[in-house]
Amino acid sequence: MEPIGLMHIETVLIPREFIDSVYKEFQDTGQEGFERLALFAGKKSGPEFSVTHLLYPKQQLLRTPEGLSFQVDGEELERINEWLFQNSYSLIAQIHSHPSEAYHSEADDALAIITTFGGLSIVVPDYGFSDKNLAHSAFYRLLPDTGWTELSPNQVTSLIKITD
Ligand SMILES: [Zn+2]
Repeated sequence: MEPIGLMHIETVLIPREFIDSVYKEFQDTGQEGFERLALFAGKKSGPEFSVTHLLYPKQQLLRTPEGLSFQVDGEELERINEWLFQNSYSLIAQIHSHPSEAYHSEADDALAIITTFGGLSIVVPDYGFSDKNLAHSAFYRLLPDTGWTELSPNQVTSLIKITD
């Protein structure tokens, strides 16, 4: 039986075309002055996770005095969870853009769509205009003891494989 959750995942394979699509989307949305969120879904096989689907959930893009944010409503989350369940897919990561620095804000911690231990949250800086292939993006993993925890560059290198 496959282990429950994502803590045992040691390698995440992400097709390059999904990374390229995300950067294009983040840049387009960034030019309008908004952050944007995408999700990586796929299948687990032992310690490996293969991303097979890139999702852009229906989201409200917000600009408030506190800053930029995005909101995915409960109905949309339900729709996604239903789809995941019916196809035996899991969400491995959420990825979103920031206007400048890449870090997990308090709101990012509190409102994360990924709620499974071992799941990932990636933050792309400068609306995706300053780095490529997640090279300067910030990676966080949801851990039982420490919550959303930033990964070191070495941890990211061993965990994330972009595939052609
Ligand atoms: Zn954020």
